[in-house]
Amino acid sequence: QPVWKKKPAWIRVKAPTSPAYQETRAIMREHKLHTVCEEAACPNIGECWAKGHATMMIMGDTCTRACTFCNVKTGRPGQLDPFEPESVAQSVKKLGLNHVVVTSVDRDDLDDGGADHMAQTILRIREASPGTTIEVLTPDFQKKPGALEKVVDARPDVFNHNLETVPRLYGEVRPGARYFHSLRILSRVKEIDPSMFTKSGIMVGLGEGREEVLQVMDDLRSAEVDFMTIGQYLQPSRKHHAVDRFVTPDEFASLERSAYGKGFLMVSATPLTRSSYHAGDDFERLRAA
Ligand code: SF4
Ligand code: SF4
Repeated sequence: QPVWKKKPAWIRVKAPTSPAYQETRAIMREHKLHTVCEEAACPNIGECWAKGHATMMIMGDTCTRACTFCNVKTGRPGQLDPFEPESVAQSVKKLGLNHVVVTSVDRDDLDDGGADHMAQTILRIREASPGTTIEVLTPDFQKKPGALEKVVDARPDVFNHNLETVPRLYGEVRPGARYFHSLRILSRVKEIDPSMFTKSGIMVGLGEGREEVLQVMDDLRSAEVDFMTIGQYLQPSRKHHAVDRFVTPDEFASLERSAYGKGFLMVSATPLTRSSYHAGDDFERLRAA
């Protein structure tokens, strides 16, 4: 049974209350949408939703994998909803998002891992909201030929695929996934479309060492990854992987400096950084540069 560690003072999460948060929530309910913000019990939900920024989770709320850090339920997912791409597109429009992150559970049960559905979602959002930048946060499409190409061909602005942790901890934290396979996905995106921004992230506090994190940065740079996120792992419940330690804000600042030193264009490394946190603001900044 994993232990439960008390959160330090620097991890303060305000309860979401603002009217803008309530409004976003109402739209999500109306369109029966799943968001990572809720499913992953993200600590930034109040802040992000108040800004009208959200991460949509498509293809259901049940995952075929069982990562030990993740709050999404595992099981046999239901059938894909053919109306979902359009429904997501209409919600993005209604929410007036400048930047949307589209992600999904792993669908190892589908022949193409859900790639076509994800591509359709990108295309529908583009049609309904041409001014919205689109980021996809994809599963690893393991052993699904042509799946990755389908998603890249739909031309999202940012292609995000998380490594989640250092390779040594994969067996424990991400069973069913392979570190070098995930890295290969990121380098393959650049081969297919060198103009597409690529992004990846890890959680810290799972038992990794600083040297191992620096090695992940080097691996990502050798795959030409542009953006990196590093955030504190928070245990969603007592049943999930235990927090090994809380990395201090100073250590995060030092990791951020190291990452910029290695050539990433954009880095977010703070205790509450999540893969999709501030993605919109950052991207706007980069486009303006
Ligand atoms: Fe949602 Fe990402 Fe913001 Fe968390 S950081 S609330 S997952 S948009
Ligand atoms: Fe959660 Fe993704 Fe792992 Fe599924 S594959 S359990 S959604 S982290």
